[in-house]
Amino acid sequence: MGNQCLAKLFSTHIGIDLGTANCLVYVRDHGIVLNEPSFVAIKKATHEVIAVGNDAKRMWGKFPAGLEGKRPLQDGVIADFEVTEDMLRIFIQKALRSVPWNKRILHPRVLVAVPSGITEVGNRAVKDSAKRAGAGEVILVEEPMAAAVGVGLPVADPTGSMIVDIGGGTTEVAVISLSGIVSSKSVNVGGDELEKAITQYMKKVYNLNIGPQMAEEIKIKLGSVYPVKDEERMDVRGLDLACRMPKYVNISAAEIRQALQEPVTSIIEAVRGTLDLCPPDVAADLLTRGIMLAGGGALLCGLDKLLTEEIGMPVFVSEDPLNAVVKGTGVMLQEDNIWSN
Ligand code: ADP
Ligand code: MG
Repeated sequence: MGNQCLAKLFSTHIGIDLGTANCLVYVRDHGIVLNEPSFVAIKKATHEVIAVGNDAKRMWGKFPAGLEGKRPLQDGVIADFEVTEDMLRIFIQKALRSVPWNKRILHPRVLVAVPSGITEVGNRAVKDSAKRAGAGEVILVEEPMAAAVGVGLPVADPTGSMIVDIGGGTTEVAVISLSGIVSSKSVNVGGDELEKAITQYMKKVYNLNIGPQMAEEIKIKLGSVYPVKDEERMDVRGLDLACRMPKYVNISAAEIRQALQEPVTSIIEAVRGTLDLCPPDVAADLLTRGIMLAGGGALLCGLDKLLTEEIGMPVFVSEDPLNAVVKGTGVMLQEDNIWSN
C-alpha cells in the first residue's frame, strides 16, 4: 500500500482559513467543522489562555483588570506569534474531535490560507505553529487564490478573474489567470477600519464613546455605502464623554454612510490600482466577466452597486462570502498531488 493510500485511511486532511477576524477549519469528507472569531482572552500576569474564539469574543470590551483580549492577527499579519500558535493549536484539536479515531492515527495534513502580504518570517511561524499544534505536513496557499477557488471562479482557465476579499484587517484584491496571480494589491483597510471610522464619528459628532461590540453592531445593522429608499435608524448605546454617564443616541443610516466614506474609498482605490497593474488582454476579460466580492466586508450593504458605478464593470457578491476562503482550501485538499508523498 502506498503512502498516499495510508495517508487517506489514517490521517485527516485539514484546510484552515487563518483570518484576522475569523478562523475556519475544513476537514476533508466532513466540510466546515469550526468557525470562530480569531480572538483570545489571556491572563495578563501569566499569559495563560483563558478563552478563545466565540468565548473570547463574548468578553470583548468587558475585561476586568487582570484579563486582556488579544487579536493575534492584525492588518493581515501575525501581530503576536505566541498567541497565534495557542489559538491555532486549540482550533486544530477542536476540529480533530469531529473525525473518527482511525483518521487520527497519522498526523493531519494541513493546508493554511495566509494573507498574501505575510512575510517569510510569518510563513515560517504559521508552519511551525501548525506543526507544534500536531500537524504533519503543512502547505501554505495565498488567501485570494483560495477565495477565488472557493467561490468557483475558473482559476485554471486562460481568462482573467478578479477576486476582492474584504476581511477584518485587510482587503486583498487579485487578478488570477492560468492558476496564478497576475496582479494583486493588499491594503490594511477592512472591517476593523470601518468600525474605527464609526467609533470616531460617534465621538466627534455626539461626544459618545462606544465599545467595539457596539461599533460592529452598527456596521452590520446600519452600515451601507449606497442610499436605499427606506433608510433605517438605530439606537446606539455608549458613554457620554462630557458627563461620564451611559446614554442612548438615535442615528441614521445616512450618517454612518458618511462616516464610512474614507475607508470605503480606500477599498475602491485598491481595486482600481490592481486593474492598473493588469495586462490589457486580462483587463478586457474582466470587463465581461466582472469582479467577485468575498469576505465578510462583501456583505456591506450596497458595496456591489457602488463598485459597479465607480469601476464601470459588473460586480457580484459571492453566495457565502464569509466561507469563501475555507471552502477553497476544501477544494484544494482534494488534490492528492499537492502533498509531498
Ligand atoms: P477575516 O478573513 O479577516 O477573518 P472575514 O472574511 O471573516 O475576515 O470577515 C470579517 C469581517 O466582516 C468583520 O470585520 C465583520 O465585522 C465583517 N462583517 C460580517 N458580516 C458583515 C455584514 N453583514 N456587513 C458588514 N460587515 C460584515
Ligand atoms: Mg479572510
